[in-house]
Amino acid sequence: MLASRLPGILPPLDDAEALESAAVRSVAGLAIDFHHWKTRPFRAPHHTASAVALVGGGSQPRPGEISLAHHGVLFLDELAEYDRHVLEVLREPLETGRVIISRAARQAEFPAAFQLVAAMNPCPCGYAGDVSGRCVCTPDAVRRYRARISAPLLDRIDLQLDVLRVPLAELGADRGVGEPSAAVRARVITARERQQQRAGKPNAALNSREMQRDCALAANDRTLLERSLDRLGLSARAYHRILRVARTIADLAGAERIGTTQLTEAIQYRRLLLPSH
Ligand SMILES: [Zn+2]
Repeated sequence: MLASRLPGILPPLDDAEALESAAVRSVAGLAIDFHHWKTRPFRAPHHTASAVALVGGGSQPRPGEISLAHHGVLFLDELAEYDRHVLEVLREPLETGRVIISRAARQAEFPAAFQLVAAMNPCPCGYAGDVSGRCVCTPDAVRRYRARISAPLLDRIDLQLDVLRVPLAELGADRGVGEPSAAVRARVITARERQQQRAGKPNAALNSREMQRDCALAANDRTLLERSLDRLGLSARAYHRILRVARTIADLAGAERIGTTQLTEAIQYRRLLLPSH
């Protein structure tokens, strides 16, 4: 439910993005959706979808779901149920924002700069970590289930959260509803404008030189980050990704520099309650 709400807080596509999005749909043989012009795409392919349907391909190469999600959201529910090979293919576009499809006769390149959102159960039965103690899985079964998501793929997922079951009594209408999407969206748009003004691009696209300029840490925070990477066994890639997330948290808060609060929050998104590796 949270994933399907995400497009509602994202800024609209600009003209160039909307044209690219329409071009991908057209190449895929889909009608251009003028009713949702400038709305960011949200694609949620089922885990039984074929590799070609997901990443693209065919004798006349066509874009797959990851390209239809270009400039938008790709939601993979029940992540552990997807073909492991398909999940590994996602690593490249997650870094480069494009996918290259090679066939004997020809090669095609499609854009695939999508925001990946994925969900999975904590274990095969779904109750690991639940206060009810209902989980019937052996530690080994839990490990095997979680190992279906490789460490290199997990490394490319910036925000990792355990979502605990909400007691039914707390779902009642009398608990009030959260902030409306429109209010969150306004905050997102402001944060993105801040990034455009500072670097001319979103934080996700900052290169290492730009990060040295815009993501500078105080000496004690740098030590904190280095120790956390050591303790959590994270890569140099995770180091840069944590800094970009911290920069974004600071932008959402309207902070000039990344402080300890923002850095700690960014690190915390790398620490699942039940680590898989
Ligand atoms: Zn279980």
